[in-house]
Amino acid sequence: MHPPEDALPGKCIVCFSRGKLRRYAGRITWLRASICPACHSRQAEPLSFILLLISMNGGPDACADVAAGVVSYSAPRYVGWDDIRVLYHEQIGDMLSLIEAELGPDYAAAIRTGRPQRMH
Ligand SMILES: [Zn+2]
Repeated sequence: MHPPEDALPGKCIVCFSRGKLRRYAGRITWLRASICPACHSRQAEPLSFILLLISMNGGPDACADVAAGVVSYSAPRYVGWDDIRVLYHEQIGDMLSLIEAELGPDYAAAIRTGRPQRMH
């Protein structure tokens, strides 16, 4: 039996809080995860995924037209596109280094150079 929508286990995929979670149904359509009511109501998306999507889409300038309305969470607060642009430049280097160390240079190169996969 599946648990009811408001009693999913684990943590919110966006802010990592526990408690009343529902099934995530945001723009990352293939992601099976849980989300809390606060993040759900803001249509917030997981920061790490957003940063990788921006990288795959050629960087902030190249995808500003489709990503400008994105909301995410960087403790202790929700962040919009202006903050996400700053966080991208602060964090993407370390994220790609980690991916390269864990998964190999091909993965990191694919994310770094971009694939023809637009955010939508
Ligand atoms: Zn949350």
